[in-house]
Amino acid sequence: MIHKLPELPYAYDALEPYISKSTLEFHHDKHHAGYIKKLNDLIKNKESYQNMTLLEIVRNSENSIFNNATQAYNHNFYFNSLTPNKTKPSPALLAAINHQFDSLENFKATFTQAALGLFGAGWTWLVMDYKKNLMLENRSNAQTPVVGENTPLLVCDVWEHAYYLDTQNDRAAYLENFWHVVDWEAVSKRYEG
Ligand code: MN
Repeated sequence: MIHKLPELPYAYDALEPYISKSTLEFHHDKHHAGYIKKLNDLIKNKESYQNMTLLEIVRNSENSIFNNATQAYNHNFYFNSLTPNKTKPSPALLAAINHQFDSLENFKATFTQAALGLFGAGWTWLVMDYKKNLMLENRSNAQTPVVGENTPLLVCDVWEHAYYLDTQNDRAAYLENFWHVVDWEAVSKRYEG
């Protein structure tokens, strides 16, 4: 199958002033689109991949096919973790956050520290295990927890292309902006789903 670039679930300027229109234009229309185009090119003549979903390719590939499929998957997940709406964690998710991280504020601080500590390009994830215990996972480059046993709930893209137009080298400022646009309803649904 031909993999298609999903449309952003909000307008390009919807996340301003936290994430700019031009960041989203480049991030979605160039970077995300680029991974999907490359993936389609790479699997064009490979029959074993033709009937697989994106997630199946992520779980059954390696090297450049894996890298491009995973980046396509991770970006879908990232863009669907953001919203211009004011949202908050569901009571069940908030209880789990309080249990694991003491408070929502402390969770954000711990997640932010993890993201700042990730060397180079990658992704910081909130995941849960099969007992619904919450934990943080840093993954470099195109790695993703989707290949493991844990369920991803929230991700922050910490590749420089996610923030360089807005905050240049200041990843901490990007993280501060990130918390203003996290879609807690989406995260809560994943937690309860
Ligand atoms: Mn990205």
